[in-house]
Parts: sequence; structure tokens; C-alpha cells
Amino acid sequence: MQKRILTGDRPTGPLHLGHYVGSLQNRVKLQDEYDTYVLIADVQALTDNFEHPEMLAGNVLQVALDYLAVGLNPEKVKFVVQSMVPELAELTIYFMNLVTVATLERNPTVKEEIKQRNFVKGVPVGFWSYPISQAADITIFKAELVPVGEDQLPMIEQAREIVRRFNRLYGKVLIEPRPMLGAMARLPGTDGGAKMSKSLGNCIYLGDPPEAVRKRVMSMFTDPTRIHPTDPGHVEGNPVFTYHEVFNPNREEVEELKERYRKGTVGDVEVKQRLYDALNAFLTPIRERRAEYQNRSKQVYEIIAEGTRKGRALAQATMGEVREAMKIAYKFA
Ligand code: ATP
Ligand code: MG
Repeated sequence: MQKRILTGDRPTGPLHLGHYVGSLQNRVKLQDEYDTYVLIADVQALTDNFEHPEMLAGNVLQVALDYLAVGLNPEKVKFVVQSMVPELAELTIYFMNLVTVATLERNPTVKEEIKQRNFVKGVPVGFWSYPISQAADITIFKAELVPVGEDQLPMIEQAREIVRRFNRLYGKVLIEPRPMLGAMARLPGTDGGAKMSKSLGNCIYLGDPPEAVRKRVMSMFTDPTRIHPTDPGHVEGNPVFTYHEVFNPNREEVEELKERYRKGTVGDVEVKQRLYDALNAFLTPIRERRAEYQNRSKQVYEIIAEGTRKGRALAQATMGEVREAMKIAYKFA
């Protein structure tokens, strides 16, 4: 039997370059080798967007379009809508008994996200406890491997702890998942912030038209200590060069630009122009495939429905085993 991958994205907007290098690229690479399930995590998206549930429906399609555009093959990869698998909610409830409040409070990613989100009416329990529901997402599909960005490592660790605890208490039903980081564990934002993130508005989206990409690139944060193009500049920690490293396949050009930047013989405008060219070459085929699928959205919805049906069947099978192991598979039922 093929080993399984489970990973996913919140339908809070279309996907961006960070998703690509953090996770999508690995999914595409491994889709022939692993039985792959990709969760469109609308329930998790609600935990900090519950006041605007109307945004989810459109973004479910946007995320699926991005999957197809980067080359996930719907004959192999199952796209699963989280809210359409209610077994996930059930497993989450059982998992809640296996996690302490203190452990949740220590999760560094959630702490950071709480700060960013600035919840005015207090932190919703749903948001604060999303690592538990994410553990259910991963384990219900019995995934061994989870391709994710660095921010998700604490979630995988939490899932592993839950699995160990569950298996010790009730018997060996669940699989301890392993994370797999992408070519870039955390792509910085165009604003120089630590992470490109939909919620922070510092993104280049996979479907962005050329003009939008150009604007984003030309206004990118660079070396703040550099005032004139003749000043020696810093390459390290400069997101323009980070992007060159990841997205510009012309290594010679990148090395030459780095050298000239350090010496103060190239301006930011030229470095950015070359980055735009590289990014546009990378994004053009993705953009084109995306537009093709957008014109066939009925077919895309069928792909999602079919993936969700298969995902739910697997989730139901696991829940049968879970109830059995927990001795709540009552015979009179
Ligand atoms: P939101 O702001 O709504 O949380 P997001 O941009 O953080 O959105 P998610 O849907 O939370 O995106 O993340 C989906 C996956 O993409 C996760 O595995 C995450 O680690 C990865 N990812 C997201 N942003 C980046 C990034 N900048 N660099 C590397 N990986 C990323
Ligand atoms: Mg996120």
C-alpha cells in the first residue's frame, strides 16, 4: 500500500509564492509516490474569520484553481473540503481530552498569530485550539508525511504527541506524522516581514497578472541602510535577493547581481527588474493553466466533490477503528 500525505491550506484567499516553495512544490513532486489528500481547511479558516463566513465559498474554488495550476493531478490527488467531513469534528472532540491547556498555551505559532490578529473581543477558543483540530485532520487520513512551511512545525509536533497518547491509552490505531519542509521553509513577505501571509497583505499570488507582480516587486522592501545605488548594500536578509535565490534559475545572473550589490555597482531598480523577469517567467504557465481551469469551474467543482467523497470514506473508516479502540462502538447501535 502507498504511504499517505495529508496537508492543506485555509481558503482565506488565493495561494501565493510562499505556499509554493513551502509546500505545493513538494506535493507536486511526491504525488506519484504518495497517496495524497489535500485539505481545503474552511473550518480552520472560520476560527479567525467567523464574522465573514461568506468569504469561504469563493476561496474554496480559488485554492482548488491554484492546486490545478501548479500541477497537482486530480486523478491522483484528492482535494477535500474540511467542513464536508464531519468525522473531523468528532475526532477533534476526542483529542481534546488528550491535550492540556498549558500545552496549547505554549504553541509558539498560535501565540504569534494571536498577536498579529489582535482579537478585540478576546481570543476565540476555536482559534486557540486549532492545533487540536489540525491533529485530527492529519491523523484521520493516517498520513505519514505532511509537507508544510516552518510555521506548521509546532502543529505537527502537537499531532505526534496526541497520537502517542491515543495509541498508548486505546491501542495502536493512529500514525505519527512527520513534517516535510519545502525548498524555503519560510518565505518572507514583500514588506520584509518574516512570512508572506494572506492575512498580512504582503503577497505575490500565483494567479497575479503581470502588472500586479511588477508593482509588488518594484515596491519591495530592500536594504534599508542603502540610500544611493553606489552605496555598498546588504544581500543577506534582503528579501529581493531571497526571492532571486529561490525563483531565478539563472544562477550566474544572481551571483553577479549579489557581487555588484555588495560593491555598490548596481541599483535596486535593476535588481528588482531582473527579479520581475524571473518571477514572470515562473508564473506565466501557472497563470495560464489557472485561467483555463477558471473557465471550466464546473469541472473543478466536480473534482473537489469527488476528492471530498473519497476523503470522507477514508475518514469514516478511521473513525470506525477509533470508536472500536475507545470502546464506544456500542453493539446496540
Ligand atoms: P493565513 O494568513 O490565512 O493563515 P497563510 O498565508 O498563512 O494564510 P495557510 O493556508 O495558513 O496560509 O498555510 C498553508 C500552508 O502554506 C502551510 O503549510 C504553511 O506553512 C505554508 N505557508 C504559508 N505561507 C508560507 C510562507 N511564507 N513560506 C513558507 N510556507 C508557507
Ligand atoms: Mg497560516
